[in-house]
Amino acid sequence: MMKAVVVLSGGQDSAMCLALAVRKHGADGVAAITFEYGQRHSLETKYAKRLAKRFGISLHKVIKMDFYRHLTSNALMSKDAPIERKKGASCPTTVVEGRNAFFLLAASVWAKEIGATEIYTGVSEADYSGYPDCRAAFIRSQQKTIRLALEWPVKIVTPFMRMSKADEWALAERLGILDVIENETLTCYNGIPGAGCKKCPACKLRNRGYSEFKSRRS
Ligand SMILES: [Zn+2]
Repeated sequence: MMKAVVVLSGGQDSAMCLALAVRKHGADGVAAITFEYGQRHSLETKYAKRLAKRFGISLHKVIKMDFYRHLTSNALMSKDAPIERKKGASCPTTVVEGRNAFFLLAASVWAKEIGATEIYTGVSEADYSGYPDCRAAFIRSQQKTIRLALEWPVKIVTPFMRMSKADEWALAERLGILDVIENETLTCYNGIPGAGCKKCPACKLRNRGYSEFKSRRS
C-alpha cells in the first residue's frame, strides 16, 4: 500500500525527504516523482533516478512538463540568462514562477491514483532565498486547495520548512546517510554534483550550512 509520494529533484533537500519517507513508511510504501520542466541540467533526472534506486524505490515517475518554457523564462531554464540576484529585486533570477504549485498538484493527482496521502517536498523558508512558493503560507494554502480540488486528504509534508542547512546536514549524519547526501545529490545551479561550483547561490547555501555543521562538530 502506497503511503507517500516524494517530489524528487535529485538535490540535497529532496534526497533527505526521500530518506525520511522511507524511514517512516518503508521503501514499499513510498513512490517518487521527478519533473522535467526544462531545467538546464538534465543531469537532475539522472541523480533522481539513482537516489530512487539507492533507497529501494520501485515506483518512480519522471514527468515531462515541456509546456513550462512557453509560459516563463528564468536563469534555471535558459542558458543565456545569468544566475544572479539583481540589486533591489524581490526574487533571484533562478525563480521558476509557480513551480511548486504545479509540482504539488501533479504529485497529489498521482498520489490519489496510487492511494497515497502524504506528499513530501524539500521546500524551506529557514534560509529564505526569495522563492514565494517555498513559504509555509503557500504550502498551507496549496494543501487546502488540493484537498478541495481532489476530494482527497492530501497532507503536504515539509520536514525542512524551518530547519537550517546546518541542521539538515546534522540530520543526514544521524540517519547514517551523510555520504549519500554529500556525494550523490545535485544541488548546484551550474550542474556540478556534490559540493558543486561553489559560486552559485545554491552551492553557497549548501556549503555554508556544511561548514557550519562541520565547525559545530570540531
Ligand atoms: Zn553551484
